Amino acid sequence: MAFFQPDATFRAYYDLTPAYLTARGITVLLLDIDNTLAPYEQPLPDERLRTWLAGFSEAGIAVGFLSNNHGERVTLFNSELGLSYLCNAHKPLPRKAKKLIKTLGGKPKTAALMGDQIFTDVCCAKLCGAHAILVPPIWDRRDGLTRFKRKLERGPLRRYAKKHPDAPDVRAGNPITEEIREKMK
Ligand SMILES: [Mg+2]
Repeated sequence: MAFFQPDATFRAYYDLTPAYLTARGITVLLLDIDNTLAPYEQPLPDERLRTWLAGFSEAGIAVGFLSNNHGERVTLFNSELGLSYLCNAHKPLPRKAKKLIKTLGGKPKTAALMGDQIFTDVCCAKLCGAHAILVPPIWDRRDGLTRFKRKLERGPLRRYAKKHPDAPDVRAGNPITEEIREKMK
């Protein structure tokens, strides 16, 4: 199913560059927060993320957060950045994504959405007609629902890897996870 297949994969958010987007005529980048940019437990963006985000504004790409998480989490995360955002986004439903793309002055066809979940982020991008970028989750919760969702993702991820043998394999995990593990030692 094309709805469950990303258009691109990266090892971690920071491997996505402004040049990748401009080469494809993309002017708006929507970002999932949890497990894409930071683990759930990290309330504020770190230095690397702030520098990475600044690179997109410098390249003239409008960036916004599109999160299914609640307002408190998203407003705190965004407090020092002041980007446009929508929380409780109900991804994969495309309504809020389309609204945010419009706010950022773009069109779905020239927008990208990056996230860590196929059935919310990738599907939302596809339902909008935006470019779907998938990264491995940084630190999954160990609850039943998350495990179930990840189990359902296995088939689409296997198909993607088979079709795109040279693309980063999301199943290999996110290098940020290793960094966090190192810090915990
Ligand atoms: Mg996420």
